[in-house]
Amino acid sequence: MYFPKPYEDEWVGSLVARASIHTGLTHEVLIKHLMGLQSGNISFFLPKVLRPIAHVCRLPVEALLLQHTVFPFAAAFMTPSVMRGTLERLIGPEISGRGTAALVQSLSLNARRFVFCLACIEEDIARHGESYWHRVHFLPGIVQCPIHKSELYALTPCKHAGLPIRAGPILAERRQAATLKRIGPAGEFEQELARRCLAPLIPAWIYRDDWVSMYRQMAMSKGYVMKDGSIAGSQIAMDMQKAIGPSMLRNLGCEYPQRITASWPATLVRPWGSGQPNHSPLRHLLLATFLATCPKHVGPFDYTPVGPKQANYQELDRQLAHHVSQLWDDARRKSLRVSARGLVANTPMASIFRHYRERFPLTLAVLEAFKRSDQAERQIGRRPYWRKRLGLLKEDE
Ligand SMILES: [Zn+2]
Repeated sequence: MYFPKPYEDEWVGSLVARASIHTGLTHEVLIKHLMGLQSGNISFFLPKVLRPIAHVCRLPVEALLLQHTVFPFAAAFMTPSVMRGTLERLIGPEISGRGTAALVQSLSLNARRFVFCLACIEEDIARHGESYWHRVHFLPGIVQCPIHKSELYALTPCKHAGLPIRAGPILAERRQAATLKRIGPAGEFEQELARRCLAPLIPAWIYRDDWVSMYRQMAMSKGYVMKDGSIAGSQIAMDMQKAIGPSMLRNLGCEYPQRITASWPATLVRPWGSGQPNHSPLRHLLLATFLATCPKHVGPFDYTPVGPKQANYQELDRQLAHHVSQLWDDARRKSLRVSARGLVANTPMASIFRHYRERFPLTLAVLEAFKRSDQAERQIGRRPYWRKRLGLLKEDE
């Protein structure tokens, strides 16, 4: 069937909308026909099924995903393996059960409105005879057109007004059906944030898993180090809130409460290892922008750290591992079976261990060995005893 080719940096939803204009088919009929879907709706920013669209516009499905959807931005701070998994799910032949809402949500406010630059529309019409929705205009943090350095406008369709199918001309046709707002202006912080928000779209962007250590180094170079060598995450959170302002943080969907120790900036500079929770790309970009632009911190910090200090974890781990080993020995002597949870419970470290397991490598190693022992209440296999019985081990092993 006839289907237009996407223009440079055009949203996949914009491409489908243009196809609907070109073919004269309604959006719904087109989607049903194209995708074989029951519903005539697909996400403007990242449809769950990409293959049929890639097929009709004669593009490799990876190219459609990387050049015409929110994926490169949404996945920018995933670890390489998580990114791969998500990519394969999205370009696979099956409709994935898992939704794409969380990925689209990374656009923040602009996941619910349509953003355009008047100069781009003029240029598009002169060049192609029609206008389209550009990806770069929708990235959060972008307050002016990266090409023309001109103002951006956001169009929010009224309920039931449906998709404004193409940028520009639609304004005159359906002014009643939408509200129009000017975005901007941009201060120094916003300009740096915008520069960083654009970076994940370039092909040279590298997926990595050492962001946290990068932020820790930036924090250190800006003087956010406490006497015991740990990073003053709470101070960073406080200073960041002051510098960016609660209202801008709220607009970007990245606000945090007064309890700064548990705030996301404090969490994002903590050495979690592989246990670091997922943070939206915008959080990474805001933190990096703040640490790059903030003045060097001098003088004391405005708070006393709560909970155990970083430096204490090693000692806590040693004590807890020792305690667990002793109880295990006890159980062995008395031929008892106990649970792994029971070994840790009733110690002062129990709740710290529950929340920060990855900081207790010694304890985890002892527990892992315990779980395979004959004293473990829950038998999980791989124990030498059973392997011997099954003839998998020689008697003298
Ligand atoms: Zn422009």
